[in-house]
Amino acid sequence: MRIAAVELIWLDLTLRQGLVTAAGTHLARPVVMVRVLSDSLEGFGECAALEMPSYSEEDAAGAWRVLRDYLAPAVLAASAQLATRGPAEAEPGVDSLVGPLIDACGCIRGNPMAKAALEMALVDLALRDIGISLADHLRLEVTDVACGGVLGMPAGQRAGAQRGAYEDPAALIAAAEEVLASGCARLRVKIRPGYDIAPLSALRERFPDLAIQADANGSYVPGDLAILERLDAIGLTCIEEPLGEGGHTGHAWLAERIATPVCLDESLGSLHQVREAISLGACRVACLKPSRLGGLIAAVEAHDLCAQAGVACFCGGMLETSYARIANAAYAGLPGFVLPGDLAVEDRFMEPDILDPGDVPPAPAGRAGIYRPAGLAPHPVANLLAARAVRRELLRL
Ligand SMILES: [Mg+2]
Repeated sequence: MRIAAVELIWLDLTLRQGLVTAAGTHLARPVVMVRVLSDSLEGFGECAALEMPSYSEEDAAGAWRVLRDYLAPAVLAASAQLATRGPAEAEPGVDSLVGPLIDACGCIRGNPMAKAALEMALVDLALRDIGISLADHLRLEVTDVACGGVLGMPAGQRAGAQRGAYEDPAALIAAAEEVLASGCARLRVKIRPGYDIAPLSALRERFPDLAIQADANGSYVPGDLAILERLDAIGLTCIEEPLGEGGHTGHAWLAERIATPVCLDESLGSLHQVREAISLGACRVACLKPSRLGGLIAAVEAHDLCAQAGVACFCGGMLETSYARIANAAYAGLPGFVLPGDLAVEDRFMEPDILDPGDVPPAPAGRAGIYRPAGLAPHPVANLLAARAVRRELLRL
């Protein structure tokens, strides 16, 4: 699997509705796509880095630069080097095809989302080279997985706004009903100090049996313990990334003081961090994202670690296009994903995104279908990709 070229493609997408979280408001969604080419095949990866470094330290422009200047050249050089060693093993696997190429990026610190995008493209190429789907590679038996809905905050609750009043319960319930209308099995609600007890209580009153998760995006501090203790009465499935400081020891401290299971997301940024969180008892639930963990190969291992430790997993979303969502749906088919993931291929963008809707694997309402042909997901349609692309750069050795 000689890598002949790597192309970076910058897509400018716009969300139909801004998503307001404790970390900021997302409306523009630039997406850096990575296309790797062998002599006869191509593979696509999608970078999760957002417009701004608000969810994590990475942003789309920085990921582009790191991919262009360091990661893609490293993989091209490693591929050329490997090609001089003669024919590959008789029956190569995904890990043996992709692993040595990704190892070449090891000298670049951090930047998990940029690395994950390149690895994703290489995994797609390797799957197509071997002729199997990601679902086959992961030995999945399921045909579809449950989707969960996400409810952002009202626009007035954006970060930096005055700590806010919760003033419009009717609008909140209407927004939740709209999300749930697609058949989603749970509601994940973005919260922050000042926008927490009241909206969550209202949702619980309206939906007594619904699985409700709260995602704080690290917006509380240990001094907010009294508020976090009050969340116990609401009966949440979990509270996600409650603390913005204190790390795993802080979350372990909190986990001993509240009955609501603590879930970690942002602070599970590597396999080391997953191991540490488990050993400290910092989480009973894990939001796993291949993009944040540096790629699918590490993400599968993170899933295995969580499953062995009895930590319930769900697959989180990063405002992906349908392409990455379909890939994530297969990842979420692993048995440790006992909670619904952010996997709905929905009308999220102002314009149709980069796939032919007819290529999206079918599934019952509220579920995401598992893609079974060779590769990670159906490839973007060339003219849709061209129409959304504002910048392209082809890199060769
Ligand atoms: Mg989160």
